Amino acid sequence: MTRERLYRTEAIVIRRSDIGEADRLLTIYTPGGKLRVAARGIRKTTSKLAGHLELFTWTQLLLARGRTFDVVAQSQTLRPFRQLRDDLERIGWAYYIAELLDKMTHEGDENRPLFSLLVETLTALDELDDSLLQDLVVRRFELYLLGLLGYRPHLYRCARCQEELTSESDRLSPQSGGMLCPRCAPMEPLALPVTLSAFKLIRFFQREPLTSVLQLRVRPEVLREVEILLQALIRPHLERDLKSLAFLQAVRS
Ligand SMILES: [Zn+2]
Repeated sequence: MTRERLYRTEAIVIRRSDIGEADRLLTIYTPGGKLRVAARGIRKTTSKLAGHLELFTWTQLLLARGRTFDVVAQSQTLRPFRQLRDDLERIGWAYYIAELLDKMTHEGDENRPLFSLLVETLTALDELDDSLLQDLVVRRFELYLLGLLGYRPHLYRCARCQEELTSESDRLSPQSGGMLCPRCAPMEPLALPVTLSAFKLIRFFQREPLTSVLQLRVRPEVLREVEILLQALIRPHLERDLKSLAFLQAVRS
């Protein structure tokens, strides 16, 4: 094995499946984008990798280029995010984030800000006990994810005519990718109604850092409305419904 065949990267494991007797195929998200890599022998108790490549673990990897998949040569855990696994709701959020990222990205598309967003989001979910705050963190992730993949929702200018939006705007069009001014709204009968509180909250998400978002006191019904609006904005970019959403709904009900 020559030196050029090896490279290092930070990564977060977003999906894994068993292959063969003792191997595992991992889908990882890295600053260089999404990758699928093989972890050989990881399911043997004697493997040095065992326990280092659990789902959602933030790790530093040494990878060897392979013909089909690159192969994990070494793994060093940077942060295991242990609290994420403490309760079903947090596990559900983590699964949802990982699945959303997996379904909305292509292998090898470099996106450093998206990797940072993923680390920031999982760190916050690991640290926050309060389920309303966890909810805020996930909603903000959804909004930023859309933006970082080139689908930034129009929240300051009308998604149809570019006119500056005022507090009178009360319709969101998933089709046009954002809010509509009162003049354009009647042209899109399928646009969703939006209360002023929800409109203000998603604008706040787009503008402010996470630390400010976590200072907010948001009524649960406003958060629920924002959840529905973001789902409507995300759905056109997914081929099918996410499995993790059904799990989350079951946990929450
Ligand atoms: Zn308009």
